[in-house]
Parts: sequence; structure tokens; C-alpha cells
Amino acid sequence: MHPYLARCVVTGVVGVALAVFGAAATPVAAAPAVSASPSVATVSNSPTVTAPATVAITRVGAQPALRAATARSVTAQRASRSKARLRAARTDSTWVWPVSSVSLGEPFGASGARWSSGQHTGQDFDGDTGDAVRAVTSGVVIFAESFGRRGIVVQLRHKGGIETWYCHLSKVEVAVGDTVTTGKLIGRVGTTGNTTGSHLHFELHTSPKVAVDPMPWFKRHGVGN
Ligand SMILES: [Zn+2]
Repeated sequence: MHPYLARCVVTGVVGVALAVFGAAATPVAAAPAVSASPSVATVSNSPTVTAPATVAITRVGAQPALRAATARSVTAQRASRSKARLRAARTDSTWVWPVSSVSLGEPFGASGARWSSGQHTGQDFDGDTGDAVRAVTSGVVIFAESFGRRGIVVQLRHKGGIETWYCHLSKVEVAVGDTVTTGKLIGRVGTTGNTTGSHLHFELHTSPKVAVDPMPWFKRHGVGN
């Protein structure tokens, strides 16, 4: 069969928000703001102090310096936390391709009669029935069964609330609730559902009903560069 004909014919049960297409370049989770340390307020004079005026002047004079020192400390803490978050993001954002031998098929957003919604909701990867399908990054299995036109599907939820969907599988290798690491075997390529040939139909959702182009996500995480 001509490769072009063996593409996925999944239709958009889930609407493709092309308006969100550009939003794929936006990080999913914003880091929480670091609140100012309440310790700054403890620098003030104690109301129980009844020291002579000379001592009181010394204390008042020392206050700005203490405040400055505390402010420097808070700034240092913020910088330290920021670095820790960056390290965590790098650790948690390890990505790999979902198949070992990468040959890209129909791209996200392709239009045509093959998709009843008019548009392709994922990125296809060529593959033979039985080929390993792997988690593109660490996450939790939230769905693993037949799902209409998509055939047998494994869905993973990842940090930041994004989901990856692996469709048309011939076999599921995980169970709902399993925690998977990057590259973990989760299923096998197949032809289940509405498809004219074996391949992996891969979707990335920024929320359950919003599919976006997964390719920028791979690139951002250093896959395929
Ligand atoms: Zn497809």
C-alpha cells in the first residue's frame, strides 16, 4: 500500500483548537510566585524595650541595615528556589520519541476527507504491528482501552496537566493507575479503530478536549533536534 494511503483516518471526536496551535510554545505550568518572607516584620522594635535614649537611637539606626540584610536574604532565597525549580523542570522534562525507528507520517492539522472533522488531531508515526510504543515522558496511565475511531488507546497524564494519547494500538502493556517513566513500554503499534494501515497516531492535549501539535513539544524537550 502506498504510504500516503496508510495514514491515520482518525476523526476529531475531540475538537482541534487550531487557535491553540500557537499556544503550544507556551509553558504549561507557571511557577508559583514566591511570597515575601514574614521574617521581615520581626525586625521592628519590641514594645517592651525601655532602654535609655542612646540605646534606642542605636536600635533605630540599626534597623535599615537589618532590613537591607533581610531583603538580601529573601532575594537570595528566591534565586535559590528559582534555580531549584529549573533543575526540577529539566529532570522532569526528559522526553523521547514514542517509537524507536522514527518515520513521520501525517502531520497534526492536516486537512482532508479522511477526517470527518476536517483535520488531523495528532502526529502519525509509521510502524508495523507489534512495534514497541513508549511513554514520551514520565506520567500516570489514565486510560487504557478501546476508544471509538482511535481504536485501542493508552492515555498518559503528565506534569503540568498535559496528556499524551497513543492510538490504534494492537496491545496494551500497562494498566490504569500505573506510573510510567520516560521510555517505558506502554503498548504495541496496531491497526485498531478507523485506520487503513498500521501506525501510531500520537496526540498531545493541553487539556482533555484540546489537542495541539506535539512536534514543537518534542523539539522544546530536545527530541529530534
Ligand atoms: Zn493519525
